[in-house]
Amino acid sequence: MGNFEFGQAISSRAQEFLARKNHSMFINGAWVNSQSGKSFEVLDPATEKVIAHVPAANAADVDLAVRAAAEAFERGPWSKMRPNDRERLMLKLADLMEQNIDTLSEIESIDNGKSAVVAKFVDITLSIAFLRYMAGWATKIEGSTLEVSALFNPDGKFHAYTRREPVGVVAAIVAWNFPMLLACWKLGPALATGCTVVLKPAEQTPLSALFLGQLIEEAGFPAGVINIVTGDGESTGAPLTSHPLVNKISFTGSTEVGKLIGRVAMDNMTRVTLELGGKSPVIVLDDCDPAVAAAGAAQAIFFNQGQVCSAGSRLYVQKKQFDRVVAEVADVAKSMKIGAGLDPNTQIGPLVSQEQMDRVCGYLDIGRQQGAEVVTGGQRAGDIGYFVQPTVLAGVQQKMRVVQEEIFGPVLVALPYDDLDEVAAWANDTPYGLGASIWSNDLSRVNRLIPKIKAGSVWVNCHNMLDPAVPFGGFKLSGYGREMGKYALDGFLETKAVVIAI
Ligand code: NAD
Repeated sequence: MGNFEFGQAISSRAQEFLARKNHSMFINGAWVNSQSGKSFEVLDPATEKVIAHVPAANAADVDLAVRAAAEAFERGPWSKMRPNDRERLMLKLADLMEQNIDTLSEIESIDNGKSAVVAKFVDITLSIAFLRYMAGWATKIEGSTLEVSALFNPDGKFHAYTRREPVGVVAAIVAWNFPMLLACWKLGPALATGCTVVLKPAEQTPLSALFLGQLIEEAGFPAGVINIVTGDGESTGAPLTSHPLVNKISFTGSTEVGKLIGRVAMDNMTRVTLELGGKSPVIVLDDCDPAVAAAGAAQAIFFNQGQVCSAGSRLYVQKKQFDRVVAEVADVAKSMKIGAGLDPNTQIGPLVSQEQMDRVCGYLDIGRQQGAEVVTGGQRAGDIGYFVQPTVLAGVQQKMRVVQEEIFGPVLVALPYDDLDEVAAWANDTPYGLGASIWSNDLSRVNRLIPKIKAGSVWVNCHNMLDPAVPFGGFKLSGYGREMGKYALDGFLETKAVVIAI
C-alpha cells in the first residue's frame, strides 16, 4: 500500500503507474509518444488536480495503429492462431486483471471519480467476467450446412455451407462513465472472433486502458492485435472512424456523436455498432411496497452519480403511492455521503469533469425555470471537485426538457400517472429506448406492460441488472446493435456462403 497523495493509501502498482505522470500509448506492441509530441492533461475530478499527461494522437498516430492492427489481422501470428489459443490468451488477460483488481479499481476511481469499491465489485469484476464469458465463445463460432434445391439445375448436386469470419480491424471508441467495462465489451467479442482492435478510451479517462495495455503485453498478445490510442474525438476518434482499413466501428457514447459516426461509417460501408444515450423510465405500479420501490429507484438513478446510459432517470409512480415513494427517494438522496471515490464510505463521487458538472447544473437551472419543484438537492456540492448533490425534481411535465433529455448526472424527475396505458405512452415518449424497469408483483399487469415498452432491456423489480450472457443495447436513438451475450458476436463476424458443385 502506498502514500496518501490521493487522500487514501493505494496499491503499490497503482502508485507506481500514477507516479509516471507522463504516459505513452500502445501501438504495435510498443509504448510510444504521439508523433507530434503533443499530450493532454488528465485530472482527478475529486480534487481538480492534474494527475497525468497522456499522448494526444492525431491522424498519423491513428494510421500507425490501424496499419498495425491490419497487419496483425492479415499476416501476423494472430491470423494463424487457433480459436483455443485465442481463448487461452483472453483467459490469461482476465487472470491478470483479477490479480490486479485493486490497482485497476484505484486507477479507475482516481481517473473517473467513481467509488473504488464500486469500480472493484462492478466495473472490473464485470469486465473480467465478460472477458471469460467471451473467451468461451472463441471455440464455439459456427456456420451451418444448407440443403440446396437449385431449381435451374435439377440434376446438380451441391454442398452448401456458411462460414462465420472475423470482420477485421475494429475501431473501439468508448465513453468515460465505465472506461474499463466498456472497453472490455468491445475487446471481448473482437478477440473471440479473431478480429484485431484499435481502442480509443475517452479523453477524460484514458488511464485504466493504458494500464490494461501493460497487462495485454504481459499476457503475451502478439504485436498489433490490441492497440491503444489516446486523444479526443476530433483529432483521434474522427480519423479512426474514417480510416479505410477499419472494418468495424464499435462505439459507446452520445447519440449526437453516434449519428455522426454512423454517417461516416456509411462512406466506407464500415460495419457499425452504436451504444448511445438513454432516458430510462422506472415504472412503479400501485401494488408495490413503496419502500422497495424507493430503494430501487434511488439505486437506479444515483448509482455511478447517474452517469449511466441506462440510469433510471424518470420515475413514474401510480398516483396513490406517488408522494410516499418520492419522499422516500428524497430521504435516500439526502442521506448519501458525498466524497472522493477512494474513500470507502463515499456513495456519491464527483462527476467526471467540469464540463459534465456544468451540463448537469445547467439542466437543474432549466428545470427550475420551467417550473420544476426541487424536492431535494438541486446544486453543486462544495467548491472543489465536480460534485453535484443527488437531486429529485417533482412538479414536472412530460414535455419539459428535464424529462425529455439525457442529463447524465444524479438527477431524477418524478411524475404521477393514472393507468398502464398512460404510463406506457409516457415511458415511450422520449427519443431514447435503452432500458426500463417495472416495479410490481402483479404478474398479469407486468406482462401486459412489457411488450408495450420500447426499450432494449426491461428489468422487473430490479434495474441495470447486467450480465455477460444477456444482450444489451438500444431501441430508437439509443443505438444500433447489441453488446454482450452471443448477440454481440454477430457485429464482429461476416457470413460467407460457400456453394460447391459436387
Ligand atoms: P461522447 O459521444 O462525447 O464521447 C464518446 C467517445 O467518442 C469518446 O471517446 C470521444 O472522444 C469520442 N468521440 C467524440 N467525437 C468523436 C468523433 N467525431 N469521432 C469519433 N469519436 C468521437 O460521449 P460522452 O459524453 O463521453 O459519454 C456520455 C454518453 O455516452 C452518454 O450519452 C451516455 O448515455 C452514453 N453511453 C452509452 C452507453 C450504452 O451502452 N448505451 C454506455 C455508456 C455511455
